[in-house]
Amino acid sequence: MATSSEWFARARESLVGGVNSPVRCWRGVGGDPLFFHRGEGPYLYSVEGKRYTDYVCSWGPLVLGHAHPETVDAVCRAAAASTSFGASCPAEVELAEEVKKVFPSMDLLRFVSSGTEAVMTAIRAARGFTGRELILKFEGCYHGHSDGMLVNAGSGALTLGQPDSGGVPVPVASTTVAVPFNDTQKVQQAFSMFSGRIAAVIVEPWAGNMGLVPPGEGFLSFLREFTEKNSALLIFDEVITGFRVPEGGAQQRTGIVPDLTCLGKIIGGGLPVGAVGGKRKIMEVLAPLGPVYQAGTLSGNPLAMASGLATLKVLRREGIYALLEERALQLSHGLEEAAEKAGIPFSVSRFGSVLGFFFSERLPTNLSEVKNTDGGKYPPFFHGMADRGQYFAPSPFEAAFVSLAHSREVVEETIKAAGEVFTSL
Ligand SMILES: *Cc1c(COP(=O)(O)O)cnc(C)c1O
Repeated sequence: MATSSEWFARARESLVGGVNSPVRCWRGVGGDPLFFHRGEGPYLYSVEGKRYTDYVCSWGPLVLGHAHPETVDAVCRAAAASTSFGASCPAEVELAEEVKKVFPSMDLLRFVSSGTEAVMTAIRAARGFTGRELILKFEGCYHGHSDGMLVNAGSGALTLGQPDSGGVPVPVASTTVAVPFNDTQKVQQAFSMFSGRIAAVIVEPWAGNMGLVPPGEGFLSFLREFTEKNSALLIFDEVITGFRVPEGGAQQRTGIVPDLTCLGKIIGGGLPVGAVGGKRKIMEVLAPLGPVYQAGTLSGNPLAMASGLATLKVLRREGIYALLEERALQLSHGLEEAAEKAGIPFSVSRFGSVLGFFFSERLPTNLSEVKNTDGGKYPPFFHGMADRGQYFAPSPFEAAFVSLAHSREVVEETIKAAGEVFTSL
């Protein structure tokens, strides 16, 4: 088989930048990206045949590891019975019921094909329900690539959003207000500046797209009370945090109940799925019950539903989350110790089996603090680990994911490799 570099050269002739999602081109760490042709359990195999322990896990969905036999079996059986009905099927009802069991805040759901679509739908529903146009988001929170969410007003600048992507019309970007994560005062200022105009506040309760930044004490409960007082909706984007902890997600862990919740990643078990759900009276604004249109050719796709159902079935078993948690703790403590021994400032945050790590003494609390950590140490860390068969995200400030397939021994090897790499930094 050709090498990864040969594949990348070929890819650039037919795919934009050689990739289908920008982070995959390794611009954040330098060098040519690896091409993989197989995954099994905790491992990915590059086209060169080299084995890597995978801590990206497809950016979260593969909580059971690669090619988990029960998921593979469920998908194969579903495929044999048709890859798509374009009509209703039992599996979508079953998956909705499974999700509702651990997310009691969702009276009704709608399945879509990605987290991006889940957020688009949540926002449209929120606007339809409240009759207001503005959305408040937090800097450094990622909610997919829809126009209005690609906005990140410069730190401290409490103005209507400027697009941070080309191709986003200013009038669209300016329906988004972005303020720093964990900053209750800025939220209050935004609500008084745009009084009666903010339809919803959307937040990743644990911000998993700038490393992993936990909510400060009282931040989420403030958002709950404040939005309610101002007749705005609270949307939890739990695309990463959903099904990461036994109770379901951040909302059960914190006891804070949002109006709408977005899910994705794990609920598709590696196939394309997203979901939005919430209070009955809000969800009923969606077509066919209400005036807010939303649709999808492949929504509720039988393969995706089967994959999600198989994944959630395994997660429901006794002791599974305890195992995930134990392994994530082992990795987080191991990395911290290894860094300390090498004299490298390093801190780790964790939510269930998701980790965020930063080259800094203390955990950052918002995007500007994240940017002030020593991100420059990440590319040599990444390459040092990859040389040792350990695959972390090819970009700084991304979360790391531990799966059920990562055994104690596998994680032990990773920590040993990290010790060598930290020492060399
Ligand atoms: C990944 C992600 C999304 C987008 O999901 P896609 O399936 O990539 O469209 C949205 N929100 C959060 C918090 C995510 O991590």
